[in-house]
Amino acid sequence: MWNQLNEYLEKYNALTQAIKLLAWDIETEAPKDSIDNTSKILGLLSSEAYATLINPEVEHLLEAINPADLPAREAAIFHELRKQYKKLKVIPKQEYQAFTELTTKAQHVWAEARQKNDFAMFAPYLEEIVATHKRFIGYLGYTDHPYNTLLDDYEEGMTVAVLDDFFAEVKAAIVPLVETAVKGNEQLDDSFIFASYDVDKQRQFSRFIAEYLGFDYARGVIKESAHPFTEHMHNKDVRITSSYLENNISSGILSTIHETGHALYELGVADTWTATLVGEGTSMAMHESQSRFYENVIGRSLAFWQPLYPRLQAMFPEQLADVPVEAFWRAINKVQPSLIRTEADEVTYPLHIMVRYEIEKGLFDGSIAVKDLPQVWREKMLEYVGVAPSNDAEGVLQDIHWSGGSFGYFPSYALGSAYAAQLTAALDKVLDREDDVAQGTFKAINAYLTEHIYQYGKTKTAKQLLEAMCGEAFNPQYYTEYLRAKIADVYGK
Ligand code: ZN
Repeated sequence: MWNQLNEYLEKYNALTQAIKLLAWDIETEAPKDSIDNTSKILGLLSSEAYATLINPEVEHLLEAINPADLPAREAAIFHELRKQYKKLKVIPKQEYQAFTELTTKAQHVWAEARQKNDFAMFAPYLEEIVATHKRFIGYLGYTDHPYNTLLDDYEEGMTVAVLDDFFAEVKAAIVPLVETAVKGNEQLDDSFIFASYDVDKQRQFSRFIAEYLGFDYARGVIKESAHPFTEHMHNKDVRITSSYLENNISSGILSTIHETGHALYELGVADTWTATLVGEGTSMAMHESQSRFYENVIGRSLAFWQPLYPRLQAMFPEQLADVPVEAFWRAINKVQPSLIRTEADEVTYPLHIMVRYEIEKGLFDGSIAVKDLPQVWREKMLEYVGVAPSNDAEGVLQDIHWSGGSFGYFPSYALGSAYAAQLTAALDKVLDREDDVAQGTFKAINAYLTEHIYQYGKTKTAKQLLEAMCGEAFNPQYYTEYLRAKIADVYGK
């Protein structure tokens, strides 16, 4: 019976890979006018993929097979299928399709609304997306808080109770750090970051850095897109994009390092699991922990830049010859409250996430209404980040996530940074990380992460991985301590 089920799984995998490849192509190489036709093909393939998993035969096999009779590998895949099946099955097919159509449309409307700075134009779509999610939560059920059901889609087992504590602790730690930084900014010159840097040379440097960190061009590709992202087909085909700005040398480099972290995770999934339902990173937050570990813990450290910086200076002598490595390192760590999440520094970033978290929670417990969002956004930005937007394009309309129906996703970004800090502490017990980084050697670090995280794919949850690696449950204190130490280093005590 397993063989019968496996045929469906292999077809599903083939369709999924085709979908990802087309979606990747739309974002990177496809000519602009191809999008209408290719979108239709994507829609068709998606319905086909859905029908391959959700049908009476698969349901019958899921009931007939006893996972206790399966070998360990097959049992792990079976469990994942049963979990995904249960979630999809309770939502009527028509409603699922209607939601896909709604969010496809909503993303276009959102893009236009943002451009025109017109929240009212987007509001009815957002109302409907929230209403649909509420209906879906009704089908799926929830424990303690309706938002928990949405959180679970991105971080299995994550709850409002855990996040409330987490964000309270983060906020208490960060507010004084931001004050220290803002005072210190009078002595921190970062103007050279925004000089003019030839984009071709930036691209060349970024490609070098990715390989330096362990990215393998025989199994990976780097292209460009407006918003950098990572996609994977399997562990021999992982693709990332970066984005270079002529007037910002750190943006492209740090984006490349971030996506390289995501890529290393997918490249490190064991052959046993790749191209199966469990053959990818286990959760959004664990994925973000890897990208943020490489971007922030490694890529924004002085040890990282000491051996590399002369190479960057040689490439851009006019802009950087007179800038010492310490000044460059301070500049890429500058903390400054700002309006746009994706441009925020490492310290104020989680405050931007907190604004979104509070709003999402309020939308689903009924304490916040969609129509009030622009106002609520301004109030919360002022309260948490200390600045408020004068228009909605720089406020509530800045992120694509809600238009695509992604509620419960944002907390993963902040959790990822916190996981990264905790696993860094675990890694530092067995490795001399700083020394390795200063030597430009990433073999031991990558091997450690592969051994404890990457190889398992989805066969272990983030919670299980973290506890096994760190010997304790998720503890946000590592994160707040890491940020305190960073600010003390960059700004002096
Ligand atoms: Zn990321």
